[in-house]
Amino acid sequence: MSHRQRFLNGRHPLSGGPSLRRKSKAVRKNRLFFVRPDLKALPPIMRARLFSLPCLYATLICSIAFAAKPTPAPKAAAAAATATAAPAISKPVIDQTAQTIIYCYHRLVDKVRYPGTEITPAAFEAQMKELKDRGITVISMQDLLAWKRGDKNIPPRCAVITFDDGWKSQYEVAWPLMKKFGYTFTMFIYTEGVAGGSLGGGQAITWEQLADMRDNGIDIEAHSATHQDLREGHTIMVAEPGGKRTKKKLSGAEYEQWVQNEVVGCKTLLEQRLGIKVNCFAVPFGNYNEHVKEIARNAGYEAMFTVYGQPITYTSPMDALGRYAIEANKPKVFEDAVKMIATSGGGPGAPAAAVVGAENLHTEPADGTTVRTALPLIKANLSPIGQIDPASVQLRISGLGLVPASFDPKTGIVSYQVTQKLRDKSCTVILSAKSGDKKVETHWTFGIDEATRPAVTAPTATPKK
Ligand SMILES: [Zn+2]
Repeated sequence: MSHRQRFLNGRHPLSGGPSLRRKSKAVRKNRLFFVRPDLKALPPIMRARLFSLPCLYATLICSIAFAAKPTPAPKAAAAAATATAAPAISKPVIDQTAQTIIYCYHRLVDKVRYPGTEITPAAFEAQMKELKDRGITVISMQDLLAWKRGDKNIPPRCAVITFDDGWKSQYEVAWPLMKKFGYTFTMFIYTEGVAGGSLGGGQAITWEQLADMRDNGIDIEAHSATHQDLREGHTIMVAEPGGKRTKKKLSGAEYEQWVQNEVVGCKTLLEQRLGIKVNCFAVPFGNYNEHVKEIARNAGYEAMFTVYGQPITYTSPMDALGRYAIEANKPKVFEDAVKMIATSGGGPGAPAAAVVGAENLHTEPADGTTVRTALPLIKANLSPIGQIDPASVQLRISGLGLVPASFDPKTGIVSYQVTQKLRDKSCTVILSAKSGDKKVETHWTFGIDEATRPAVTAPTATPKK
């Protein structure tokens, strides 16, 4: 019976055992848990891999990324809209309508025995080919995050491929297949599960294999230390002083120390062993809460992932990016995920306009600012978008509708001097244009100072009730 089988049968492969005494020194020192994942002294029987169940994780993506988005120009600058030259464009024009699906795989085996976490290489290869055939671009996790930050553009429909837990077959079988397609991917590793760790069995990936992947540009990210439920008060396996492992519910300071090692210790170990920067956290089984998120954010994680699959959009929260876990017994999940982004905009026959952030176009007045005139000059610079068809430029202003804006093809500047006083306290501008066969649109809103707006009612009107 394999270790895995024993685990599935309910007999925990890690419960107790004299070999764990090797760890007792470290444990006694200061921690409750697996502080020395690189221990190599454990006999093979104790190296069983604990988790063969489908890994439902969530990776941590925190709100930091949103805070990092381009900010509107300061309010003070608004009134003097025409004063200074626009600063140099530092960020690309971001297609905010792009979508990404993230897939999560585990083991690749010729003969599937545990369809919850396994898939045959042939089925996997067919799925990778299907992405190509359907025009879905496989991008790296770091490109996805850069897009979310507004730093980089991505194609309209993308996929990110991730592998969880660190299985040898990911190195030996999946990687060569991914190379065939020219796809990159992300490995989510729980550090005790790497070969030589207390949970690393015969099928575990080795640190040397991870280093080889790293050297070839594969993204390696965190998936906890021991792959357990990270919420306080849940039953977990812990190493007691003396090496014995027992089921326990941790709370208070004991829990905090443990969870720190799971979330932060894991990151530190990966960074130190491999000399990398880790900014993603896939939460084991997707079991987390606000407290775990906070620890992860404070540790510098930029993104957290769950396994509640959903298309990732520009505004998806960074602390709950859903991945589709692909299992041999649920082939429909892959297809459903593909359909999700195939039908939700950007697909053939549905050329929705790419929405461009107004901050990229140096709009005047700037988005979110307030002006002290009801007759503002409205401007935007379309040059970052590329060659514009002058006849396609349309400027709409709330309260006025389509206005006869002028467009200078040389500078790319669209402008319109409002001639009829704006009456509302805020004004929304919608600007669209075509570049090649691509329609681009931007929206922004500015405020108009109360005092400068024309009175809505006649001057002699009695005060409204
Ligand atoms: Zn996992």
